Amino acid sequence: MILSGTGISKSFMGVKALCDVSLMVEEGEILGIIGPNGSGKTTLFNILSGLERCDAGEVTLAGKRVSGLPSHRIAGMGLGRTFQNLRPFSGLSVLENVMAGGHLRAPTGILGQILGLPSIHAAERQARLDALQLLAEVGLGAYARSRSTELSYGQTKRLELARALNTRPRVLLLDEPTAGMNDVQAAEILDLVGAIKRKLNLTLVVIEHNVPVLMRFADRLMVLDAGCKLTEGEPRRVVADPRVIEAYLGR
Ligand code: ADP
Repeated sequence: MILSGTGISKSFMGVKALCDVSLMVEEGEILGIIGPNGSGKTTLFNILSGLERCDAGEVTLAGKRVSGLPSHRIAGMGLGRTFQNLRPFSGLSVLENVMAGGHLRAPTGILGQILGLPSIHAAERQARLDALQLLAEVGLGAYARSRSTELSYGQTKRLELARALNTRPRVLLLDEPTAGMNDVQAAEILDLVGAIKRKLNLTLVVIEHNVPVLMRFADRLMVLDAGCKLTEGEPRRVVADPRVIEAYLGR
């Protein structure tokens, strides 16, 4: 098991966002997370990635406890994530945006930078090459020098993906990778994510509104409803569960 959450609870000013939620993710698995709006999906991602602290519970990554650590430390230990609301650094080029995701593993100390050591230049060159390679993999090779603000919505989603991959994650949390896309575009981006997953041997946890698209992509689904885990298991069985249908249609 590469990622686990045990008994995670979180309230915001008395409102329960998550209530005793546990999840186990096996290495190489694709776990899909679904649930109506406000059911706690993003809060769960925020807790797994260290952006929020849980009130109770524990998160482990590759056997090490990470709950309580700051998000950059957890990222450095191999947990990457993309966000539902796109947020590229608008003043930077596409390439620089991807490189900004790589600082976690760059060996450049401040002293080395001041002294301009040759090894530092070599490391920077390598970081550039790595970032260019990732841009090519997500289909943005021709846009390396463009401003990130010049990209279309779908291209910005790909940039987010390249940036998250540049932290060299073992586990990648994807928050609505197909949001705002039609079914063809959604299938296209998930095909791309699937190919990269296989190539880099990643483990994926994916929040997705488009349940039919996610069903074809995920090995397993977990359903949240009003902060609680409703059910989890094989995708076709999960979406046929009357409780899941009720959660989606009953409000
Ligand atoms: P989902 O991602 O499934 O739509 P969220 O995790 O965003 O759900 O939200 C779960 C619940 O927690 C909602 O009731 C939401 O209003 C509340 N919530 C989430 N983040 C905050 C916050 N920072 N402050 C107050 N309430 C929040």
